[in-house]
Amino acid sequence: MNDFENIVKRLSAPQVEQGDYMGEDGLLYCGKCRTPKQFRMETPPMEGRLLPCPCRCEQERLDREAAEQEAQRHRHAVAELKRRGFTDPAMREWTFANDNGRCPQMKHAHFYVEHWDTMLAENIGYLLWGGVGTGKSYFAGCVANALMEQEIAVRMTNFALILNDLTASFEGRNDYIAQLCRAMLLIIDDFGMERGTEYGLEQVYNVIDSRYRSRKPLIVTTNIPLHDLQHPLDTAHARIYDRLLEMCAPIRFSGENFRKITAQDKLARLKNLMD
Ligand SMILES: [Zn+2]
Repeated sequence: MNDFENIVKRLSAPQVEQGDYMGEDGLLYCGKCRTPKQFRMETPPMEGRLLPCPCRCEQERLDREAAEQEAQRHRHAVAELKRRGFTDPAMREWTFANDNGRCPQMKHAHFYVEHWDTMLAENIGYLLWGGVGTGKSYFAGCVANALMEQEIAVRMTNFALILNDLTASFEGRNDYIAQLCRAMLLIIDDFGMERGTEYGLEQVYNVIDSRYRSRKPLIVTTNIPLHDLQHPLDTAHARIYDRLLEMCAPIRFSGENFRKITAQDKLARLKNLMD
């Protein structure tokens, strides 16, 4: 027998287990699920030869194994995106599932995720503006988490960190900005700290303008009132704000201060405990 025949013979031999039986059609059947473990070739050159195939329970086992492998791959991919995408591991908990339902704007976050393809294609972002503690960062975190769970690369950071990194590595600056622009969605939290040095403003403009030219969406959270963004005091701010307003649809967070409410809730609970 030559090598080829050996291989065919080995491939042709089905895995026989206890309880398996020969059917009336001459094929080997699985004793558990009573479906064939073999099939007969019906075309030349191997016409009439019996070849192994998975019975139903074996196929179900293979399918479960493949699904589990895929689920594991997906979990790893999402974990890696979240590890690289967030500056603070706590942000991984800022999800729709953990939302307390108190933020009336949250429907816009759901809308954004549900219409992500359009947002990406049309390069539409959000400008989340309003007072401190109204839930803007949490809103942005929910969008980030939901998209990352679909294996979409999101980067959520802020200008304090960006300026820090840019100052630390003068040579790597272009690479760093290019990397920010590679994320499908860039989220810049707490925009407005650039009100300061000329150097800071220049870098902020570089980042915003690069993102603008990448034609990919940007979400910004800020305490600066929309009116101030629309009426900048000088040209250095005007060119930054104009870009932002061109890329980002403004959403006003006028709600209550959640941080204050949480603090009040805690005080009330403490009072109850003491009574
Ligand atoms: Zn079976």
